[in-house]
Amino acid sequence: STPAVMLSAMAAAARGGVLFKSAAALEALSRVRSVAFDKTGTLTTGRMELLDLEVPGGHEEQALALAAALEGRSEHPIARAITRAASERGLSPELALEDVQALPGRGITGLLAGEAVWAGNLRLAQERGAVLGADLEAAVKRLEVRGRTVVLLGQERRIIALLGVADAPRPQAGAALEALRRAGVTRLVMLTGDRPGPALEVARQVGVQEVRAGLLPEDKLAAVRALPRPVAVVGDGVNDAPALSAADLGIGMAQGTDVALESADVVLARNDLNKLAAAWRLSRAARRTVI
Ligand code: ADP
Ligand code: MG
Repeated sequence: STPAVMLSAMAAAARGGVLFKSAAALEALSRVRSVAFDKTGTLTTGRMELLDLEVPGGHEEQALALAAALEGRSEHPIARAITRAASERGLSPELALEDVQALPGRGITGLLAGEAVWAGNLRLAQERGAVLGADLEAAVKRLEVRGRTVVLLGQERRIIALLGVADAPRPQAGAALEALRRAGVTRLVMLTGDRPGPALEVARQVGVQEVRAGLLPEDKLAAVRALPRPVAVVGDGVNDAPALSAADLGIGMAQGTDVALESADVVLARNDLNKLAAAWRLSRAARRTVI
């Protein structure tokens, strides 16, 4: 049975918004040596905004309506930014999309009147056979150096628009990482499916030195397996679920997707990263008392 001291530490952690699903998870936290953080929605707020819309053909509203119709079927924070921007402009996308599929780490695709339409990153654009050309390539670079995550909107092999989205680091992220470092966590890394440009910008702002970008869900999993154990993973997305399950300790953000929360051993109820170091101290104290 679970020692009373563990139960009371779990209760104290819960009052601070850190919900352990088991005493084993509390115990695991006390021993953690590495922590891998997802970027979007974990180190950042996940409240992304559409900040740029570049439509070479000039039909801005049409492009935004198509992007929103596709993204209406996705749970990704990028999707919410785009659908919100469309509805703020009074666009209600009533396009008859068929066969819509979310592709984790890439974007979303569908069929419109028999033609493939898609929205996602450069990886997806390449898979769709789109060739950017010098002007579009320069435009993507320009947006990325400003920290934007660039969404390319396409129809078959043609690029219709570039959309720039971004969110902000969580205000407590820097302090939370510093507290974990002081608590003796020796490796802190960011693992993200996003591109190096926006990833490095966030890393600089929150003070993470080790960054791996452009990772697919299976790459995140491999990166986690390569870290010194015990390893904790903090994440919110569908793309984080395999890494959360494989970690010695999976930590889910409450605002995350259902599959991330199901894969986690601990949930940060208020999405407050600062509460992690406090829970770590509780777990250490409880372990010392038990032993
Ligand atoms: P992160 O690790 O930062 O949470 P994800 O693995 O969820 O990132 O996504 C990686 C990348 O895949 C995103 O940066 C984006 O370029 C692309 N992507 C994923 N889902 C979508 C979507 N619904 N619309 C557009 N792009 C997407
Ligand atoms: Mg995420």
